[in-house]
Amino acid sequence: MSEQLSEFDVAILGSGPAGLQAAVHAARTRVSTVVLGRMQSSSLYKAHIENYCCVNGPVEGEKVLAEGREQARRFGATFMDQDVLSIEKGDDAKFRIRLETGDSLACWSVILAMGISRNRLNVPGEKELLGKGVSYCVDCDANFFRGQTVAVVGDGSAAACGALVLLMTAGEVHLIYNDLNVAENLVHQVESSRIHLHGNRSVAAILGGNSVQGVLLDSGEKLEVSGVFIELGAKGAIELTSMLDVALDSETMRYIVTSKKQETNVPGLYAAGDICGPPWQMAKAVGEGCVAGLEASVYVRRETGRLK
Ligand SMILES: Cc1cc2nc3c(=O)[nH]c(=O)nc-3n(C[C@H](O)[C@H](O)[C@H](O)COP(=O)(O)OP(=O)(O)OC[C@H]3O[C@@H](n4cnc5c(N)ncnc54)[C@H](O)[C@@H]3O)c2cc1C
Repeated sequence: MSEQLSEFDVAILGSGPAGLQAAVHAARTRVSTVVLGRMQSSSLYKAHIENYCCVNGPVEGEKVLAEGREQARRFGATFMDQDVLSIEKGDDAKFRIRLETGDSLACWSVILAMGISRNRLNVPGEKELLGKGVSYCVDCDANFFRGQTVAVVGDGSAAACGALVLLMTAGEVHLIYNDLNVAENLVHQVESSRIHLHGNRSVAAILGGNSVQGVLLDSGEKLEVSGVFIELGAKGAIELTSMLDVALDSETMRYIVTSKKQETNVPGLYAAGDICGPPWQMAKAVGEGCVAGLEASVYVRRETGRLK
């Protein structure tokens, strides 16, 4: 399958309220705009909103998001329901974004609206064995499990890609998921590899004393492993932004620092919503998304001489 490169003015990473509002404002100013990520992965998807101004709820988050998508589409935004695996800035001042399908995008400006990851399994043994075989980052810890048998847990691109990366160092790799929600060619890569697949399964407990010795599945089956990588959802904001040296807040090192114009320390790169820190509320996400969308558009038009 040959890789494709598409070009847009603005790419928005995230299909939650911050990303959708940014898309509405960017697309309305006639810059070509693409929105990446899955609506179903937004924190809002399963929430009920009753404290958002002028919406006298409770209203289902899923409905709010579907309306926001249609609205942004009406103003010309393109949607690609895919996770981003990497971002780089090229010598031509454009960003290069690699998608889970293997295809790439080139764009003048990027808005980071990936929310925050709540990436705990909340099963017995997880907290107790953290750092003793339980990890939340394949990229950081794969090397500690050279030649060993490990399990990766998760339904999204982070788990699928993590399992493929682990194949290069670990002895055996198990992938445990309920319903693998990733692009078709990533499913194909996983299925045609030597990863042991455990579909329609979840983890009931992580077993071990001083270190991980196994996982207990909801089916009652036990897998003997010495490492468990919990990789829920998409590649996390911090992993993606570390590729660009984006400044994080010095206190927690978890949130992106922005100016009042939602600019990060990287020219052309903006951030909005939960990814910029608390309060984690739709009203804040939407406000920041609006500013980011407008500012990204000004940046593109200035860089390309279209501002007049
Ligand atoms: C149970 C619950 C109840 C809540 N109730 C309320 C409430 O009543 N009122 C309120 O104001 N707020 C509420 N919130 C908070 C609100 O949902 C969030 O503040 C809001 O959704 C943040 O918007 P966001 O766009 O920043 O991030 P999100 O809505 O979380 O969206 C993140 C997006 O980023 C995408 N993404 C992530 N990684 C990648 C990647 N690698 N590549 C591409 N895309 C990626 C995801 O697919 C998703 O589309 C609630 C949250 C929860 C969990």
